[in-house]
Amino acid sequence: MRYLVTAALPYANGPIHLGHLAGCYLPADIFVRWLKARGEEVLLICGTDEHGVAIELRARKEGCTPMELVDRYYTQIKKSFDDFGIEFSHFSRTSRPIHHETASNFFLSLYEKGVFEERVTEQFYDVEAGQFLADRYILGVCPRCSYDQAYGDQCERCGSSLSPEELIQPRSALSGATPVRRSTRNWFLPMDKLAEGKVFRAYAERVVNWRTHVRGQFNSWINQGLMARSMTRDLNWGIPVPLKGAEGKVLYVWFDAPIGYISATREYFQLQGGAHNEEAWKTWWQSPDTQLVHFIGKDNIVFHTIIFPMILAEHGSYVLPAQVPANEFLNLEGEKISTSRNHAIWLHEYLVDLPGRQDELRYVLTAIAPESKDSDFTWLDYQARVNNELVAILGNFVNRVMVLSHKFCGGRVPDAASMNALPPELQPALEACWFEIDSARAELYALLSEYRLREAQAAMMRLSRAGNKFLAETEPWKRVKEDPQTASGILYVGLQVCAHLAVASTPFLPSTAQKISGQLGWTARTAESDRNWWTDCAVAPGQRARHNPHLLAAEQVLGAAAHLFTPITDEQLQPLRDRLMRSSTPVSHATGASAQFSMKESDKENKESDKENKENNMEMDEKQFVPVKPEVAYPDFEKLDLRVAQIKSAERVEGADKLLKLGIDLGFEQRVVVSGIAQHFDPEGLVGLKVVLLANLAPRKIRGQMSQGMILLAENVDGRLVFAKPDEDADPGAVIR
Ligand SMILES: [Zn+2]
Repeated sequence: MRYLVTAALPYANGPIHLGHLAGCYLPADIFVRWLKARGEEVLLICGTDEHGVAIELRARKEGCTPMELVDRYYTQIKKSFDDFGIEFSHFSRTSRPIHHETASNFFLSLYEKGVFEERVTEQFYDVEAGQFLADRYILGVCPRCSYDQAYGDQCERCGSSLSPEELIQPRSALSGATPVRRSTRNWFLPMDKLAEGKVFRAYAERVVNWRTHVRGQFNSWINQGLMARSMTRDLNWGIPVPLKGAEGKVLYVWFDAPIGYISATREYFQLQGGAHNEEAWKTWWQSPDTQLVHFIGKDNIVFHTIIFPMILAEHGSYVLPAQVPANEFLNLEGEKISTSRNHAIWLHEYLVDLPGRQDELRYVLTAIAPESKDSDFTWLDYQARVNNELVAILGNFVNRVMVLSHKFCGGRVPDAASMNALPPELQPALEACWFEIDSARAELYALLSEYRLREAQAAMMRLSRAGNKFLAETEPWKRVKEDPQTASGILYVGLQVCAHLAVASTPFLPSTAQKISGQLGWTARTAESDRNWWTDCAVAPGQRARHNPHLLAAEQVLGAAAHLFTPITDEQLQPLRDRLMRSSTPVSHATGASAQFSMKESDKENKESDKENKENNMEMDEKQFVPVKPEVAYPDFEKLDLRVAQIKSAERVEGADKLLKLGIDLGFEQRVVVSGIAQHFDPEGLVGLKVVLLANLAPRKIRGQMSQGMILLAENVDGRLVFAKPDEDADPGAVIR
């Protein structure tokens, strides 16, 4: 069987956190490592998604071009995946020419088949900036909570979904101008009609066997009645719509992104070189014996189970997904992961805090994988699983066997005859050990086939539990003096169980698996022997498995014994817990209010943890610092032009109660800066003050007034603003560096 496996394209506007890893990349990697070990033909395809409004907006916010932004995050994201052993066959990016070409051609092919409906609709337009505004580009007052920075699609204070029409006093995020409505032409996918297509309907029958929540979302979209959705957008950043008269329009990011899987596959084969490779990708995408599997998070279900299959079906040549094992969400310490509040654990930070512990994180994230419902990562649970499972069960078993084998067996695998010669009173323990291993192997295989990775990992751990139990029941350390032959027989079994573990743990804990092999000195282990081991695991339902227990040859020289894992101490963990506490839901700064909050929150908890919560929250009040941003290289800092400047005049801005218009002396020139500090300072008190000005910030029109730079202020933990002031001796215009 040929497996074409994809993992959701990460959006290149930020680094990767634990939720992403648990959501689809780790499961995809485990599944694919398993397929490879079985000797299947398999590709794991991924890459960064680099288009869409959010990228353009973030770039604007950070004062760089969208390309600079995605370059930076592509590099960082790719490194995180490499660091955690996520083995993509190919990791591409949607900004590459090959993707633009593939997506354009795909669009044209559907266009020529008459799939799209052309529609003229009214949309908000910024006359000053001369462009249409995506919902995110419109700011205004939220009709629900009166927050004045609500977006056209959502209010981030109260969480309401909004449409731009609902905003009070809408304004453009580009120029501040009031947007007007203008008509524009776009190309819509008539999803209601396409859902009736023959190919799509045949595909829809597969969905019945998928995960409950995937099927649930699929059915609810279909049953609600699908609506036509525009596949083009009036935007600058993206893949230009390849039609005459469509200037200034790009493909909808959710049209082009999944096609990224196809272009990445094309690119992969191009890089392989050779004449046939230009066509090889088609075998993978277009031949009916390919199993197309999409690993994604639940927020992408509609795109991967409805829209993408629909356009694949309309194109006509492609296979449709065989399985979409979407995960639900991973929460963090009982709260949703929030990148804006930095309530997240970033992969690159994890490796700084806990270097070399990639497999530990892989293990814990798989043990709590949100396969059927949301799950919660906490540092205490992480510590408990590392210490009580990896250290105490798997690590301890392998280490005991290794140390005892060096001590009692001269550092070599004993003779197989020693196992057969075990005395009758030990036979039941031996029988139970192999029975447990046989059934765990059969279960492991069956669970992996059903994408139940969480239970599969637990089945893998049963091998080491069986080994530990056997050692505890046979106690070779007590027998060795009286009966060295029996001790050797016991350790022979122990060593073979270690070898089974090395193979079984490979998909889940790749570097641990290698370490076990290394300690066993198992140079005879090959891809072929692994393949036989896995093939051997497949047992027909109802049949009892009898697997070959002998993997290591007698007399094989063992490597040095070393601990596979070390315990996580409270001291290591405390700073990490503290950091997350600071980013959890902000509470009022008044201590009284905070205590009240924690009482309310923990109603359902017992009194003991109630007290603990209260204490934690109070502690948080005392030091609620914003976390330090990811580090930057000196050349990035050098791009900022910071100057000493002096405020010469200050006045309120008509009709804007937050804004002050400041006249600024830079020594060599006079400037105007509009600053949102009117509620913090009286204009009269500011004249004569020396301040720090970011002098090369792109000028921006605020309330019709061009603002040329930004004055730096510090925000105290209590929310009070104070100026970052240069020394009185500093002259206006002086460079700060
Ligand atoms: Zn609101």
